[in-house]
Amino acid sequence: MNRNKLITKEIQINGIVQGVGFRPFVYRKAVELNLSGYVLNTSTGVEITVNGEEKKINIFLYQLQNNNPAASKIKYFKVDNIPEQKFTEFKIKKSTQQIGTTLISPDLAVCKDCVREMFDKFDKRYLYPFINCTNCGPRFSIIENTPYDRPMTTMKDFKMCDYCKNEYTNPLDRRFHAQPIACPECGPKFELLNNNLEKIQTDEPIKETIELLKNGKIVAIKGISGFHLACDATNTKVVKRLRKLKDRPHKPFAIMTQEKNLSKLVDITAENINLLKSPESPILILKKKKNLLSELVAPNNPNIGVFIPYAPIHFLLFDEELPFLVMTSGNINNDPISKDERSLQKICDYFLTNNRPILNRSDDSVILPTRNKNLILRRSRGFVPSPINLPINTIPTLGMGAALKITFSLTKNKQLFLSPYIGNSFSKNTMDFYFEMLEKYKKWFDIKPKLIACDLQPDFFTTRLAKKQDLPLIKVQHHHAHIAAIMAEHHITEPVIGIVYDGTGYGTDGAIWGGEIMAADFNKFQRLFHLNDMPLPGGDSAIKKPIRIAYAYLKKIGIDTNFLENISEMEKRIISKQIENNFNVFQTSSMGRLFDCVSTMLGLFPEISFEAQSAMALQFLCDENNIKNAKIYSYEIQNDKINIQSILKEIAKDIHNGISPKKIAESFHNTIIQFTVDAVTEASKKSEIKKVVLSGGVMQNKIIVENLNHILTKNNFTVYLPSELPSNDGSISVGQVMVANSKYLKT
Ligand SMILES: [Zn+2]
Ligand SMILES: [Zn+2]
Repeated sequence: MNRNKLITKEIQINGIVQGVGFRPFVYRKAVELNLSGYVLNTSTGVEITVNGEEKKINIFLYQLQNNNPAASKIKYFKVDNIPEQKFTEFKIKKSTQQIGTTLISPDLAVCKDCVREMFDKFDKRYLYPFINCTNCGPRFSIIENTPYDRPMTTMKDFKMCDYCKNEYTNPLDRRFHAQPIACPECGPKFELLNNNLEKIQTDEPIKETIELLKNGKIVAIKGISGFHLACDATNTKVVKRLRKLKDRPHKPFAIMTQEKNLSKLVDITAENINLLKSPESPILILKKKKNLLSELVAPNNPNIGVFIPYAPIHFLLFDEELPFLVMTSGNINNDPISKDERSLQKICDYFLTNNRPILNRSDDSVILPTRNKNLILRRSRGFVPSPINLPINTIPTLGMGAALKITFSLTKNKQLFLSPYIGNSFSKNTMDFYFEMLEKYKKWFDIKPKLIACDLQPDFFTTRLAKKQDLPLIKVQHHHAHIAAIMAEHHITEPVIGIVYDGTGYGTDGAIWGGEIMAADFNKFQRLFHLNDMPLPGGDSAIKKPIRIAYAYLKKIGIDTNFLENISEMEKRIISKQIENNFNVFQTSSMGRLFDCVSTMLGLFPEISFEAQSAMALQFLCDENNIKNAKIYSYEIQNDKINIQSILKEIAKDIHNGISPKKIAESFHNTIIQFTVDAVTEASKKSEIKKVVLSGGVMQNKIIVENLNHILTKNNFTVYLPSELPSNDGSISVGQVMVANSKYLKT
């Protein structure tokens, strides 16, 4: 046998393989192994034709699959033998005509090679905060239009110097076709401004910033896809001032720290560290170890959101005396993240900013690791605008989203493009950002919606907007959308049992739903069990003052309310009247409100400043390891209702008997877990469904998710967790398009 016989193979690779340095990587490997042929981008991925010795081609194939660039993800890898073709060299060929959708890569955290160079005194880019290569750097945030090429990005105004140009045009260089390539000579620069936007004269704006931070100043720092407000996380005075300026009294701030300091701050596993170091570089919610920080960073909270430097500038901000920085999105509470200085002038002392515009904003993504799976709470930077693959074909559809944690979705065939996190309230800034991104997504991905989907709630601005479009409109029940989103994530097309525990969602009967166990597929749902309806006086005003919920619930059940603190006689009278006359009282089966009620019965947060604050406080009282041994309060499941009245009666009795809030909170959690398992078991008997989907905002409660998953799995159910799509309203738009397509195509 002739071992040196030449053969030719054709390789097709799909996944995230464009804009992440994949072709240069293929080129380098082929040249190293003395193979000839070519690589090119196609509409769906990368195609390679390679000719050479069999042994070397086998090494080549191994390396393609095992040493591929960090930011690339191979989803499909196919090799075919083809008749021998001879080539004189290996080439990167021009892309074939794009028939499919051109994808845009998310922004990628700076890679370790670039970090190493940045700290190398002899490197051209020593301490240069815009260093990047084909494996890393900005993408989404700098793109104006597709295809992703330098003249189509905000780098177009920076003319490459000869040094950069040489690297850019050399296929063997790590910066071959790195569109944002730059160096101190030709690229963007940082400068320091005061909050009147006047330049501070200094040769070292970054060093100066570190001094300002050490002296208790708040500095708005321009990152990759938006501004962060930064301050020293150990300085209570400045953290307090930041809370005031940002109008954010309690909601936890995220902390950025160097990798070496993580284990001092939080309980962390090797897997967590890998996730923090990934190209997506999200914020992880982890358990505080001992509190090295100001208590005001994450008040009354055993956990803290941490992330590590992901933009080159971040690596330059820390020193031994400044190990922990608050790095919170640069915005006014609930508004979109800012891309320019003006909107932040009133909430910071200085700006560390630069002359590269941010075209497309996105917030940091947030992930909650649990025993079984990582749950994504916010899917934004590092993930958008990568498409989500769908289990069914769709017509071009726009899903409008809800009113909290706003996102939209656009679909095309089997791909769904989810917007970045837009904002958390209805404001002019939120609407402007919504339209800005919507128009861009339509243009980039060439989608002209033929169908629109929105929530049933008539008052959402997303609903009102949807009605104005001259297109077929399908209204989707909120919790049906929650289930459909997680079904889409897991590619389930057959019926499931959906457990949706949520704050607020408009029901088909006009009541506010939110404690739902449904049988559902994409087309329809059946409400199998729900918490019994309770009175919610004044709607939104009670949600912000949950003590009013406790009062109304106890009143309805006939429990003595004298033990309730933090509610005035006047408020009591008004609520009693409202309930008596059924004036401005909504009926609700919400699980979120039940948490609010119990939380305030125990004296926690009579008034809240962010969503789910009192529910979280109740969770934080518990010792996770005690849950399964905690007492179970009595409940009844009758017909389609889970009656919670006796639970509240027994909790009130426990409070009177001086049982500790911790014990009560643990029992309350265990009771929810038990009645849910009972109801699901019953639902499965009726429907013969064994697949269970968990969704809704309450499924961010680790205790509920971990225990439900554990027990249901043990009882032979297959449980699907919201892992790559958020369980909260951030993925409502995904569910909306799934349901709308199914309904529209069947009519
Ligand atoms: Zn790099
Ligand atoms: Zn240069």
